[in-house]
Amino acid sequence: MTDKYVYEFSEGDASMKNLLGGKGANLAEMTGLGMPVPQGFTITTEACTQYYADGEQINDAIKAEILTYVGKLEEMTGKKFGDLDNPLLVSVRSGARASMPGMMDTILNLGMNDEVAARFAEKTNNPRFAYDSYRRFIQMYSDVVMEVGKSYFEKLIDEMKESRGVKLDTELTADDLKELAEKFKAQYAEKVGSDFPSDPVEQLFGAIKAVFRSWDNPRAVYYRRMNDIPGSWGTAVNVQSMVFGNTGDTSGTGVAFSRNPATGESGLFGEFLMNAQGEDVVAGIRTPETIDQLKDENPAVYAQFADIVSRLENHYADMQDMEFTIEDGKLFMLQTRNGKRTAAAAFKIACDLVDEGKITPEKAVAMIDPKQIDALLHPQFDTAELKAATPIGKGLPASPGAACGKVSFTAEDAAARGRNGEPVILVRLETTPEDIEGMHHSQGILTARGGMTSHAAVVARGMGTCCVSGLGDIAFAADGKSFTLAGQTFSESDWISLDGSTGNVYGQQIATVPAEIGGYFGRIMEWADQYRTMKVRTNADTPADARQAREFGAEGIGLCRTEHMFFEPDRIAAIREMIVSKTVEQREVALAKLLPMQRGDFEGIYEAMEGYPVTVRLLDPPLHEFLPTDSDDIVALAADMNISVDELKNVIASLHEFNPMMGHRGCRLDVTYPEIGAMQTRAIIEAAINVQKAHPEWTIVPEIMIPLVGEVKELAFVKNIVTSTADAIIADSGIALEYKVGTMIEIPRAAITADEIAKEAEFFSFGTNDLTQMTFGFSRDDAGKFLDAYYDKKIYENDPFARLDTEGVGKLVKTAVELGTQTRPDIKLGICGEHGGDPSSIEFCQKVGLNYVSCSPFRVPIARLAAAQSALNNK
Ligand code: ADP
Ligand code: MG
Ligand code: MG
Repeated sequence: MTDKYVYEFSEGDASMKNLLGGKGANLAEMTGLGMPVPQGFTITTEACTQYYADGEQINDAIKAEILTYVGKLEEMTGKKFGDLDNPLLVSVRSGARASMPGMMDTILNLGMNDEVAARFAEKTNNPRFAYDSYRRFIQMYSDVVMEVGKSYFEKLIDEMKESRGVKLDTELTADDLKELAEKFKAQYAEKVGSDFPSDPVEQLFGAIKAVFRSWDNPRAVYYRRMNDIPGSWGTAVNVQSMVFGNTGDTSGTGVAFSRNPATGESGLFGEFLMNAQGEDVVAGIRTPETIDQLKDENPAVYAQFADIVSRLENHYADMQDMEFTIEDGKLFMLQTRNGKRTAAAAFKIACDLVDEGKITPEKAVAMIDPKQIDALLHPQFDTAELKAATPIGKGLPASPGAACGKVSFTAEDAAARGRNGEPVILVRLETTPEDIEGMHHSQGILTARGGMTSHAAVVARGMGTCCVSGLGDIAFAADGKSFTLAGQTFSESDWISLDGSTGNVYGQQIATVPAEIGGYFGRIMEWADQYRTMKVRTNADTPADARQAREFGAEGIGLCRTEHMFFEPDRIAAIREMIVSKTVEQREVALAKLLPMQRGDFEGIYEAMEGYPVTVRLLDPPLHEFLPTDSDDIVALAADMNISVDELKNVIASLHEFNPMMGHRGCRLDVTYPEIGAMQTRAIIEAAINVQKAHPEWTIVPEIMIPLVGEVKELAFVKNIVTSTADAIIADSGIALEYKVGTMIEIPRAAITADEIAKEAEFFSFGTNDLTQMTFGFSRDDAGKFLDAYYDKKIYENDPFARLDTEGVGKLVKTAVELGTQTRPDIKLGICGEHGGDPSSIEFCQKVGLNYVSCSPFRVPIARLAAAQSALNNK
């Protein structure tokens, strides 16, 4: 940490993102490239951290430094804060290291007050522009700094427009806007209890503090949690001299991408509005023009802009997302960053950039966000059903994909219903950053307003959620509980379907089918596989899942849970018979019925995996999970099993546990009932022998995994059951089958005695779900009730079941790896918890030296890419 907290744009560059934030670093970089950037300075992320360390205060030293830079900016621009003849007006813009779209609020036209506005009107000979800028400033400042709430001001604007009989903001006259500014100030005074500040320095510090504060607003905190951004990073603040897109018809403002962010198609893509400022384009209040139309509007500016765009793309070697403003025919660049894009676009752009010689395949692999792959693997509409359906409306294809769900009108409702597993489509006039959680839990988003770069469109693309925007024909009922489209009325119980690739909306349910994985995807994955050093396996319990995972590139099964096979209707009877057995003999009779079924399952799985390794876990859950709880079901089962209801109830009662998660389960079942382990071993080994005989070209090496071990002696006991059974079968089979016996490391005691455990175990598989539960001492199923409070109080930033807790649970993993390798240098190490498909957890696995990760079939491609990135990062 240095004691320099402020940098002029000309002092920084793109490599200083951590300190200057993404926006500030890129403004500095563009300045260095000689591009037209309105000058300004950046207050660093360290100043934000310091602000929190000082109890949410900007300390005197930093204040003084900021004022020094205000002085420098005044000198550079020849303008002065509060000066009537030549006022300095600035924007105050947040900018964190990672872009957080819409999370932080920007204030424009800061430095305005009554006198400045009056003189500004005179000097520019454009009172309309002066008062438009002033009223915008009051509005933004009130909202962002004093949290007065946008709606009060919007209401005043609407009233004004109505009383003047006009529809658009641009139709209001200078006098209207001046009157509006007065009304805004009155509104401010009423809500805040003091007059609107007229001193620009006071305004500036108010704004800077507000940006620092916004780092910790609930929306920002939620976004960070979704995107693995640590709270400790802080945000930078950019203070930049204003340029005006709202001086009249020769001015304007816009946003553009150097390639199409939805499809990846090359060529400029964007929108702009003449006579507009700041967020007008994305707010969707007026419908913007496409960037091509700028060619007609002002060919010179268009040519200059196109040239800058291609320079920026070449410079950053990535697709750019840019903001620009034209002031009286003069172009200014206000922002550039690597553009967010859909998964499909990400793959196409990465491949195209390689083909254009702009990046290496390694960079192509590194630049794709593995989490995005999900969207590609997810369903599309069934083509036949889609053809048969008639759209009831067409909006803009804002974010591709297919979505089908019931209508939801508010973000809160969508979040609540979505969390309960109900498929919902969020239907709104437009979305705002407050809606983010509801958007996250929706299958799709439909808005009546907004263009391709509206908030809804940008956020949906980032999330990989389908979105159709700007469907102006939607008419909402006054109570907000229904809408009408094409003569049909839809309310909460009605289904609609959205096609995010065409913008079509359907008033019905349309079936979806799995996605087809195209050529760009294949190319990137092929490269990824070359760089990857960890294997990727899958967690699969059925041949169908195993085949799906193979298609997605899995190189084996890291976890096959045998209990899932027992829930099939034809098997549950046999397993229940086994559970209520009173003697070993009775139990063996029941197990004998299960044997052929299990053997068949394993044969199917070995076949599907074509010789790739398969780890089978012995029975894990407590036995009572197989018995009914409902009294009707108990009566029926008793009759079925030919025992009295009381007898069955006794069995159930005897199996009751106070804390099943820590109860009679895992290897404890085999310690009490060795015949269960023996039957399962027989099924695993006999199946392997059968498949090996049928396919001499494969080498089948079953890996038998003993769960929930905490003590080496219990592992040795169960292992002995396994080996004595297996060896006898193999001796009789006439072929030489190899097999391995290992354990899951999921109890802290096993992790810290891993040197002992490794004497018996030929492999470790980290069962990080249970290991997390046992380490934190709370269960995954109950944690939901209190984790939110932990996030609110900043105790935890993430759900440790979704993202591996590298400090605690990770330390146990690391310890076990070190101890296990001491005892057995060639021990095979893998992970099979949910974390095996989480990119940041995969990075950790790479660092501690695991041989493979294993995850659910749909996450296999994510894991392949994340593993490649981890290998590249840790080269
Ligand atoms: P966000 O991160 O939400 O995009 P920005 O800080 O980029 O917020 O600003 C919001 C809008 O205001 C953008 O359209 C931007 O181009 C515009 N803007 C920011 N600073 C200036 C400025 N100095 N002059 C003109 N327009 C500006
Ligand atoms: Mg911006
Ligand atoms: Mg477990």
